[in-house]
Amino acid sequence: MVNEKKTWSLFNERCLKFEMNEIERSKKILKILNQIYPKTPIPLKHRNLFTLLVSVALSAQTTDVNVNKVTKKIYPKYNKPEHFIKLGRKKIEKLIKSTGFFKRKAKSVYLLSKQLVERHRGKVPNNFNDLEKLHGVGHKTASVVMSQGFGYPAFPVDTHIHRLAQRWGLSSGINVIQTEKDLKRLFPKKVWNKLHLQIIYYGREFCKARACYGIGCKICITCYPGRKKIVKTKKA
Ligand code: SF4
Repeated sequence: MVNEKKTWSLFNERCLKFEMNEIERSKKILKILNQIYPKTPIPLKHRNLFTLLVSVALSAQTTDVNVNKVTKKIYPKYNKPEHFIKLGRKKIEKLIKSTGFFKRKAKSVYLLSKQLVERHRGKVPNNFNDLEKLHGVGHKTASVVMSQGFGYPAFPVDTHIHRLAQRWGLSSGINVIQTEKDLKRLFPKKVWNKLHLQIIYYGREFCKARACYGIGCKICITCYPGRKKIVKTKKA
């Protein structure tokens, strides 16, 4: 005969334990990241909000270093939506070719420039709703602009953050939407803008996409001292 009361209390105990461990882990991770990355400069070089938006759009499927290399030659001359409208899609394609997927990206940059001029008098809107209505601008791009451009608390989740949140046991990794929700639940709003960059930096420097046994560096050793198996992660 199953003792229902005992089973329920054991269940509660486990839930509580899991929740506490998860919170404890998030606190430890935050502390370590603050020690390693006390400063978090914005990785994509830009001159204004518009060029930040363009750089984020160009950064899909390539590195920030590559985007910076390309935009270094573009932004001194072209840094307003009007400039890109005047250039036209074909010329934009030539300028951004080495960022990859250049036809699609040039189309986005051209159309969003037009939309900014037509709908927002050439200004980048400071809200998710309007940003996400711009051509090629999804929730992640909008979150980066809101966070890094306007200082609004947001948590842009890219593939690095999605991978690390799973390896650190902060999210189940079902999809990026869930990862964003999990991270926002675990960390206070005031740290989101800095923290998302700290996680990106850590991912690039230590916790790369290739197989990791989850036992190699400070965060996992601290959070999972008994871990022995490879941590499998789901792609974004
Ligand atoms: S041990 Fe591996 S999974 Fe853990 S933080 Fe380091 S690189 Fe990432």
